[in-house]
Parts: sequence; structure tokens; C-alpha cells
Amino acid sequence: MQRLVLFDLDNTLCDRQGALAKWAADFCRAHGLGSGAEGHLVDALQERAYPATFERLRHELFLEAPATQLWDDYVTGIAARVPRRPDVIEGLEQMRAARWRLGILTNGAADIQRAKIAAAGLTRSVDAIVISEEIGARKPEADAFHVAVARCGGTPWEEGWMVGDNPENDIRGGQSAGLRTIWVSQDRPWLDHLSPPDHAVPDALSAINLLLSTTQTRTAR
Ligand SMILES: [Mg+2]
Repeated sequence: MQRLVLFDLDNTLCDRQGALAKWAADFCRAHGLGSGAEGHLVDALQERAYPATFERLRHELFLEAPATQLWDDYVTGIAARVPRRPDVIEGLEQMRAARWRLGILTNGAADIQRAKIAAAGLTRSVDAIVISEEIGARKPEADAFHVAVARCGGTPWEEGWMVGDNPENDIRGGQSAGLRTIWVSQDRPWLDHLSPPDHAVPDALSAINLLLSTTQTRTAR
């Protein structure tokens, strides 16, 4: 039987935080805005960003460009600042060679999530890309996980996993959908009021290596 793993995108497979910080600094420089505006942009876009977010920011920062143009520039600008991780891509290829089915399950707007996935070189590394805006369900809703599992195809699963950095959306959501979980902790402490993940690792590459090692252990038996 096959194994399945769903990966979160932002701050799991791709460094959204780093890309956002760089984009905000460059945007403020280009528009003659001060450091206060830079912090405001990062705060406003920290958790999520949609075209409507730029309607609000446009007024708050007295920007002349229409919100649609600001959004398009944001999509292009963030994608251009997402680093490509050859070691992560190689790890995903090793997982597929070991008969894992791989999916990306991410909350967000379809255009920017797909632009980041392409820029990070991940489009062809997974079997399914599932974005909340396209399916009408968001993590931690169980429906979002069920759609992603179905799109990876090939049931029944020997086991299914969710890997992500968000305790609520990725870990609690994954648990409620019947998946085992790996938390990408980035060295943060776990939140005591939530049921703990099966494993905590510092980054996505460590999660990939952990899952690969379980495959190899079983093959060696
Ligand atoms: Mg995330």
C-alpha cells in the first residue's frame, strides 16, 4: 500500500516570511515610504493577503495605484523573492521514488499560491496542489484535508501525514482529518492547550528526511 503526505506551503515548503520582509523593504524604497510603513505592511500581510487587503492598504498608505495593480505587483514581487530549495526538491523526488504520494494543501488566494509554488520549483514535485480559494474550504476544516487526500488519488492508504508550521490549521486540522502530523516548529515551543503532533522538527527538510527514514526502516525489515 502507498503512503501519503500533505505539505503546507507558507513557512513550511517556502519561506513566505523572508519573502514578505524583503518585498516590504523594496516596496517602501520604491514608493518613498518610511520604516513605519514597512512594519505596517508586514503586519497587515503577515497572516494572509488577498486583493481586498490592498484596498485597505492603498488608503492607509496614500498610494495612487489601483488595488488590482498593487495586488498583481505583490504577487509577482513575492514570487520573485521566494527562494528555490534544491535540497527540498531532491527530498520530495526521493519520496516519490519511495512510492509516497505528495500533495500541497494551502490556505490563500490561488494566483499568489500558484506563483509561489512555481517560483519555488515545486509544481512538478507533487501529485496534487490544493488551494483553499479554489475548493471553498480552508484548513483547519476537515473538508480541506479530505479534498486534498482525494486529489492525491490511489487509496487506500497505509498511512497519511500532514506537515506544517501552523499548530491550529495544520496540526489540529490534520489530526481531526485522521492524519498523523509533523509540526515544523522553527524552534518555537508547542502550544500546551492543543494536542501535540506526532513529531516536531525544525524545518521541512527534516520532516522529509524523517518520513524517508520510516520508509527505509520498513523496507529493510
Ligand atoms: Mg504555513
